[in-house]
Amino acid sequence: MELLREQGIVDLAVLRAFDLTPRHLFVPSGIRHRAYEDNALPIGNGQTISQPSTHARYLELLKLTGTERVLEIGTGSGYQTVLVSHLAEQVFSIERVAPLLESARVAIRAAGARNVSLLAGDGTLGWREYAPYDAILVTAGSPDVPEPLLRQLAEGGRLLAPLGERDAQVLTLVIRRGDALERRAIAPARFVPLIGRHGWSAE
Ligand code: SAH
Repeated sequence: MELLREQGIVDLAVLRAFDLTPRHLFVPSGIRHRAYEDNALPIGNGQTISQPSTHARYLELLKLTGTERVLEIGTGSGYQTVLVSHLAEQVFSIERVAPLLESARVAIRAAGARNVSLLAGDGTLGWREYAPYDAILVTAGSPDVPEPLLRQLAEGGRLLAPLGERDAQVLTLVIRRGDALERRAIAPARFVPLIGRHGWSAE
């Protein structure tokens, strides 16, 4: 937690979410001793669990108050999913790599989160059944915001996504104001590619 304060994270609700979420549950057992470093770590299937300070910055930008319905694209380890579960009313999370989703499901249950729904599939299509969402987090890099996600964003809703090239992006905040979308570039970012119909091709 001190680490995050040193990184300039000041939102108390966000810091509390980190206190409530044991990161070691989301890291493969062989590297569990490294779970509390401020580093990204491999979680298998060529994917990574992001650096905690990256999650913290994301969560501060979403300004969640506890009443929101949140859609996450890229469950990965499920760590961020659980962080969000402490900051919002309900979290819906989609992961395209089925074995990752199954490990995430186990870890999320072990962490005690109950307000989380998981879906295996292409998150670039969103999850229409529960739309609109007050916040949408895309945790993989995309050429642009997938169109279905923009349609599923509520009025005043905030969407965060790393946008740009396959290997380098700019973290971008999109806020819906009626039919208009306000876009704000936040910071350079480097995420694994978002692979799907409205993202990158699998190669
Ligand atoms: N927040 C996660 C980060 C995982 S990395 C964590 O901290 O663990 C990004 C994840 O996005 C990877 O697991 C990858 O498989 C997934 N992903 C990539 N494209 C996707 C898509 N179209 N739909 C859903 N998940 C996708």
